[in-house]
Amino acid sequence: MSPFRDLSQSTPKEALFDLAPLPMDQEGLARDFKRYYAHTLGRDRDCKSAYYPYKALAIALRDRLMERWKRTRLAHDEANCKRTYYLSLEFLMGRSLSNALLNLGVDDAAQKALYDLGLVYEELEDAEMDAGLGNGGLGRLAACFLDSCATLQLPVKGYGLRYEYGMFRQLIENGRQLEEPDHWLRDGNPWELERPEYTQRIPFGGHTEQYKDEAGNLHRRWVDTHDVLAVPYDIPIPGFKNDTINTLRLWSAAATDEFDLGEFNAGSYPESVAAKNNAEHITMVLYPNDASENGKELRLRQQFFLACASIKDVLREWIRLHGRDFTEFADNNCFQLNDTHPAVSVPELMRQLMDEQHLDWDTAWSITTRTMAYTNHTLLPEALERWPVRLFQQLLPRVLEIIYEINARFLSKVAARWPGDMERQRRMSLIEEGGDPQVRMAFLAIVGSFSVNGVAALHSQLLKEGLFRDWFELWPEKFNNKTNGVTPRRWLAMCNPGLRALLDETIGEHWVHDLKRLEQLAPQADDAAFRKRWDGIKRQNKERLAALVAATCRVEFPVDFMFDVQVKRIHEYKRQLLNVLHVIHLYNRIKHGDKDIGAPRCVLIGGKAAPGYEIAKLIIKLINNVAGVVNSDPEVSDWLRVAFIPDYRVSVMEVLAPGTDLSEQISTAGKEASGTGNMKFMMNGAVTIGTLDGANIEIREQVGDDNFFLFGHTAEEVQRIRGHYDPNGIIANDPALEEVMQLLESGHFSQFEQGIFSPLVQGIRSPHDPWLTAADFDSYRRAQLLAAETYQDRERWLRMSILNTAHSGFFSSDRTIAEYNNDIWRLEPVPPTPWGSA
Ligand SMILES: *Cc1c(COP(=O)(O)O)cnc(C)c1O
Repeated sequence: MSPFRDLSQSTPKEALFDLAPLPMDQEGLARDFKRYYAHTLGRDRDCKSAYYPYKALAIALRDRLMERWKRTRLAHDEANCKRTYYLSLEFLMGRSLSNALLNLGVDDAAQKALYDLGLVYEELEDAEMDAGLGNGGLGRLAACFLDSCATLQLPVKGYGLRYEYGMFRQLIENGRQLEEPDHWLRDGNPWELERPEYTQRIPFGGHTEQYKDEAGNLHRRWVDTHDVLAVPYDIPIPGFKNDTINTLRLWSAAATDEFDLGEFNAGSYPESVAAKNNAEHITMVLYPNDASENGKELRLRQQFFLACASIKDVLREWIRLHGRDFTEFADNNCFQLNDTHPAVSVPELMRQLMDEQHLDWDTAWSITTRTMAYTNHTLLPEALERWPVRLFQQLLPRVLEIIYEINARFLSKVAARWPGDMERQRRMSLIEEGGDPQVRMAFLAIVGSFSVNGVAALHSQLLKEGLFRDWFELWPEKFNNKTNGVTPRRWLAMCNPGLRALLDETIGEHWVHDLKRLEQLAPQADDAAFRKRWDGIKRQNKERLAALVAATCRVEFPVDFMFDVQVKRIHEYKRQLLNVLHVIHLYNRIKHGDKDIGAPRCVLIGGKAAPGYEIAKLIIKLINNVAGVVNSDPEVSDWLRVAFIPDYRVSVMEVLAPGTDLSEQISTAGKEASGTGNMKFMMNGAVTIGTLDGANIEIREQVGDDNFFLFGHTAEEVQRIRGHYDPNGIIANDPALEEVMQLLESGHFSQFEQGIFSPLVQGIRSPHDPWLTAADFDSYRRAQLLAAETYQDRERWLRMSILNTAHSGFFSSDRTIAEYNNDIWRLEPVPPTPWGSA
């Protein structure tokens, strides 16, 4: 029922939205803040919790986001512009408060207001939970991209899932990882807006059947499905000081109203409520696997739930604005698939266009292949998604039929192009044949997309030469590279206020949205007075880092030591183990009275292991045991400290990146697609020690080889070594490594749990070790020594630090998004509708 007294008169509605713009100054913010604190939240002088002032400020900011948000939406509708949808199973957003303050341009005003009210801003900031709806780099990339799209005023909407539980909380007990559920929504989420009016029905199960329409044409349809509702929650994504607010729409699963009333009537009330719960399980929890797949049915349900709901939403909007005429749809819409996780969107868009909008196959396929674009994120075979055909048959029978039809049509093209090449048809088939046939999701994504991109130059090259070689031969024009980037708002302006102030003063404020301007800093590297100020800021940031380490690890980090940091998901290919071997080497040299190791250093390692990844969990245990031995030895602690920081997440990285001297990017060459942690560290003036892998290669190109500590075999060399790799020979010929292995094997770091690290030792010594840890040890050790010696030359190091920041402009996600837009999306920027007309 409409709540309006008179629908024929527009005046009441006009009056309803006739609101003056909210004040953006200190007084106005303070007034709203006090009202929300006292009246909305009902707090009085007894309230001691930082949560309520955080929430009061969040609501005050949300009001200001809201009034700009609808102006952006209206502008997009009125411009009738082309739009892009960024489909991702992960958005690792972190906290929103500081980001909203910065992007709305009210950070100074709000902080002064709070100060005058006797509040400590940092405490409010810390009261916010991270939105941890992602595993690592892939999810954080999606978050940085949304920030850049809003800043560039591009009409891009993110689509994801509103997991009730995000990435697990990591506790360390007796050196081992424990996982705890992350109930991040427990206290409510002031940054989301539920939109029940846009709820969608998502079918599962059932079967397909043929039917005849009135004209006598045969069609197929999906019937007897068990439907689940998808309820959207919108998150505002503010651009940087430009009044644009884009949208991240997250779907939450809910049971349909009629859910098993039948069972209810039959007296099975508990069963019917259990079934309702089952429906709601779809968005209960994020799968905590980074760069690996575990093939669980619920995960496929999540993927289809996202694809189906998002595509229905997009088609609903299209029909609202254009009716059921789809001739222009492909020219006005683009779906960017973040990895293969949403690749079921290809057959699902086909299904909706054919079964629900009644287009024929060729029209639907033309639309699909002109709107889908796919980003690949990994070369690791264990990460390539394949779903059993029988699972598809059970869960998504109509979607499977369409996949078979896509495959049949595609393979006939392959047969026409390479007659008789059955081996190629077998290799390229969307269905991997065998006892348990599988759908190859990456191939499905390539067939259905007009663009396929890797995320760093090397990675895109390796895709064409290796994994997707056949596909590159068939469709070279589809393949392109988009080197990743990170948003300079969060990863410099917001997390490093000291450096931000110095940059503003030195080169003006425009670097925040035009990061190439950081180049203007380069000449300052030769200015001793500037270096001194740089040093002072780095010191403050190191103090902040040290305070976090002291509080969470109970380890003291002296700020004059070199801060050497490796934080990322724990994975064998990222080689945290190589880092630990080097730490053991340093320990061993110090114990032998050999103090020629360059600057004293603090080694910090952090990251989560997938709960089922036993080797990764053992690496965490080793790091903690080595830290225990090192830190409790007074002979060693003047030279070396080691800590494992628990529960690594976005808000922790915001403290670590500014306080780091040396950034560890030491993956086996050819394994890390890009990396983005490397870029955050570089932007904040850390120097990288790294292999020629992923974006490290481009970082080194930008900063120059004098300002980067390179080591290790190249991707090509790694390929050549395989087959005749002899780690035991390498160990026997390298006294430093041999001593490290002896310490490890003697049980020196597992005094009370003898032998627990033998799986790690065996891995290093195996000729089949895919990560070639022993092969890169000597080169790594030398590069580490050079870094620690260089660090002792304070002026030299400061120069390197300044030049790293100065040459980091390329790694702004604004540059990455401008490239996606120029080469793939082709969107026009749309500024929001002016005040007063929305
Ligand atoms: C940037 C970031 C990552 C990605 O780090 P890599 O070193 O590129 O793997 C992962 N997790 C968090 C919390 C991040 O901020």
